[in-house]
Amino acid sequence: MRIVLSGAPGSGKGTEAELLSKKINIPHISTGDILRRAIAEKTKLGIKAKSFVEGGGLVPDGVMIALVEERLKEEDCQDGFILDGFPRTLTQAKALEKSLAFLKVSLDFVLHLEASEEILVERLEGRRVCKKCHALFHIKNMPPVQEGVCDRCQGELYQRSDDKEEVVKDRLKIYRANVEELLIFYQGNNLLRRVDSGQGVQKTLVEIEEIILK
Ligand code: AMP
Repeated sequence: MRIVLSGAPGSGKGTEAELLSKKINIPHISTGDILRRAIAEKTKLGIKAKSFVEGGGLVPDGVMIALVEERLKEEDCQDGFILDGFPRTLTQAKALEKSLAFLKVSLDFVLHLEASEEILVERLEGRRVCKKCHALFHIKNMPPVQEGVCDRCQGELYQRSDDKEEVVKDRLKIYRANVEELLIFYQGNNLLRRVDSGQGVQKTLVEIEEIILK
């Protein structure tokens, strides 16, 4: 199954993608995670992407398209994938369509997660991430057993620099500037399914499963 999870920052794409990936056993590809890892490792990609990611802007389309094209050619993606955070622009969506056509496959669903602005901001500002295993927590909704420590691997939890209040506002603005044309594109392809992700992690997952496994 080939799925795109779209939605605003904070809509729950990463959390749902991770759970779904385990359930249906296909890889979860988060472009944000790939970029953050590249930045931490100071690779060529990381050096290129750092200022965009940390400032809440979008990494140029060319860089992102090349990155995803390479990733989708890997062995583990041959039976499917869940793309989280890509495409974010119409140019990326069209490029993805082209690369999949070249590989003689196509998307099955674009699941668009929707939540109110209030929920998005609350989720982003309270989000904490494990430095070691990248597990996600939330200071109120999903707190770790011990404050600041990952339940899974005991790694240190941190707040992403782009989850701070000033940057969150810019990220949401950029999201809003791009989302309409993306939705129109995927509605036109009849791939788009809207999911209410304001209802909590488990209920959202159930709704997603109902859509894709029906
Ligand atoms: P995310 O973890 O999906 O919220 O992504 C974090 C940041 O990585 C974004 O704010 C962008 O700076 C960058 N990024 C991730 N995916 C993309 C993409 N498809 N296009 C451009 N920039 C991206």
